Amino acid sequence: DTGDRLAKTIARSGLCSRRDAEVWITEGRVVVNGKKVLTPAFNVTDRDKILVDGAPLAARQGTRVWLYHKPAGLVVTEKDPEGRETIFEHLETHGLPRVVTVGRLDINTEGLLLLTNDGGLKRVLELPATGWLRRYRVRAHGSVTQAALDKLKDGMEIDGIKYGSIEATLEREQGSNVWMVLALREGKNREVKNVLGALGLEVNRLIRISYGPFQLGDIPVGGIETIKAKMLREQLG
Ligand code: URA
Repeated sequence: DTGDRLAKTIARSGLCSRRDAEVWITEGRVVVNGKKVLTPAFNVTDRDKILVDGAPLAARQGTRVWLYHKPAGLVVTEKDPEGRETIFEHLETHGLPRVVTVGRLDINTEGLLLLTNDGGLKRVLELPATGWLRRYRVRAHGSVTQAALDKLKDGMEIDGIKYGSIEATLEREQGSNVWMVLALREGKNREVKNVLGALGLEVNRLIRISYGPFQLGDIPVGGIETIKAKMLREQLG
């Protein structure tokens, strides 16, 4: 960890702008590891204890959530052993504080991915009991029968893994592909590809369009949208 400038670190926590942080530091309002620091360019790492007006920085940030339109081709991992580009490398340009993802999307999957600065919230939302609806628009090679839709609805077991009921609708046919919308209440590894694959439908495009109360909407590919504190309180209690 090579560290970051103090003013930048404070600004990234969401507390204030970098300019404000610089002023606060020179005013003597910022303490690092028990010592007042008056230099905005002072280098700090994650291990340093930063106090602003006597309150720890982490505790002052509050829970924040962002909606990210993940492009295809990026891996959802901190560091990819194969050296492929990760979403975190891509997100650097957005100047977010340190974030974690709620669940994952496969490298070639696109669409809505929730990001949060709150590891506790991540774990709660990933619990099976939270069971938020996740909707996907899917393009798959093959054709759809009523029997296939019924099987998805009943729930399927593939290679010893039980998949819950999936509400699937056929949107349209496009050449030898179909477009469908699927609604799931769980997010098992490669779930959509596995269940459709077992029905002879080979997924070649997969876009998550909603996650619980949050919608992909018209967030551009690669873009992020900040969830307002009011919306968070309403949705997360
Ligand atoms: N189902 C999949 O198969 N892949 C994803 O990325 C998400 C759901």
